Amino acid sequence: MPEYAIEITGLKKTYAGSGGEPPKDALKGIELTIPKGSIFGLLGPNGAGKSTLINILAGLVLKTTGQVRIWGFDQDVNPRQSRASIGVMPQELNLDPFFSPRGALEVQAGLYGVPKSQRRSDEILEMIGLTDKANAYARTLSGGMRRRLLLGKALVHHPHILVLDEPTAGVDIELRNMLWTNVRKLNEQGMTIILTTHYLEEAEQMCDEIAIINHGEVVARDSTRALLGRLDAKTMLIEPENALQGDLHMPDGIEFCPRDDGLLAFNYNRVTISAETVLEAVRDAGIRIKDVKTVEADLEDVFLSLTSSETLV
Ligand code: ADP
Ligand code: MG
Repeated sequence: MPEYAIEITGLKKTYAGSGGEPPKDALKGIELTIPKGSIFGLLGPNGAGKSTLINILAGLVLKTTGQVRIWGFDQDVNPRQSRASIGVMPQELNLDPFFSPRGALEVQAGLYGVPKSQRRSDEILEMIGLTDKANAYARTLSGGMRRRLLLGKALVHHPHILVLDEPTAGVDIELRNMLWTNVRKLNEQGMTIILTTHYLEEAEQMCDEIAIINHGEVVARDSTRALLGRLDAKTMLIEPENALQGDLHMPDGIEFCPRDDGLLAFNYNRVTISAETVLEAVRDAGIRIKDVKTVEADLEDVFLSLTSSETLV
């Protein structure tokens, strides 16, 4: 058994520029290990490099340099075994319109060399809720059904690792729930799950560990719990009676941030410091308070602050 599900070292990808565009460094030296048996989240804003990374794992995009080991198999040394260890549900709906769901699963199983006796198309169709559409023309399938079929295709060869690239972007709640139920079930059966999303909330609910990628680099990598600890950040905005003269000295844990609009912003962690403590510190600094409000860091804000920070690694 390998130590990690995935081991990535020094991974770089530069896309050649086309039509006068300069080359694009999509991945700038990724170092990442993903533990076996986890549900691992790969987060990052659009353009961060998530799909590039996943498509390299899937063998769909050629890396520029670096080493990728999948279930212990070096991609360059054991391409067949490394490919067999991973199933990928891509971001794009790339289904052949000429195949029915059952046909698509059978063809995919054939591509992976799964013998007929070991195929389980019916079981997969059942799981993705497409049993009654098994023989329907692909063009009669809704967008949600196509997405479910992509999940099914990723599973035909019983991979150790399942990767889902933005599985819930733009899907309705019913499909989202169905996907997550399936993902949890597969994980409980021992499958390692890697998913990308730019919904932090989704990662929060699903993932044991999270790596945040920005501009082709890993900017944070932690357990979900530890990352969420950073979500306890809160800001108090104070409108002073008089304009502030000079600098402000605050006790540990309260950070003063000057603003252009005349308001005074104080950042603090709501778990360790109460609003009352902040107010007292402000009064002790000689500020007369005209008005006050607190701003809860919303998930999107924190995500943005994580993806723009240089100091988190
Ligand atoms: P994400 O999935 O996080 O949104 P991508 O991996 O799709 O990010 O893209 C990372 C960067 O690489 C982006 O700047 C994107 O424009 C660029 N990129 C992705 N695919 C290609 C390609 N085939 N050719 C050139 N540039 C690409
Ligand atoms: Mg993407």
